[in-house]
Amino acid sequence: MFTKSALKDPAGTATLAEDKVYIREDLPEDLQRTTALHEVLHLTSDHLHLDLSEAQISGLACGLKGVLSENKPFCDWLVGKSKRGKT
Ligand SMILES: [Zn+2]
Repeated sequence: MFTKSALKDPAGTATLAEDKVYIREDLPEDLQRTTALHEVLHLTSDHLHLDLSEAQISGLACGLKGVLSENKPFCDWLVGKSKRGKT
């Protein structure tokens, strides 16, 4: 992920050709995180030819952000930082 001040609007963008996500660096950090997740989902949709709509991407980003934000032990387990049942 890269930040780029040249982006004025929207908050971020994903480019399949470059396989990169750009996030406006002048956004509040929490909004940068939400935007990064949103743009990663756009890339995933594009790579897998899922053709997800903007509403679907936004809904998935919101839901995943909530799960990841509220469940640190789950996140640690998911990325292999802890064993199941341990924090
Ligand atoms: Zn979008």
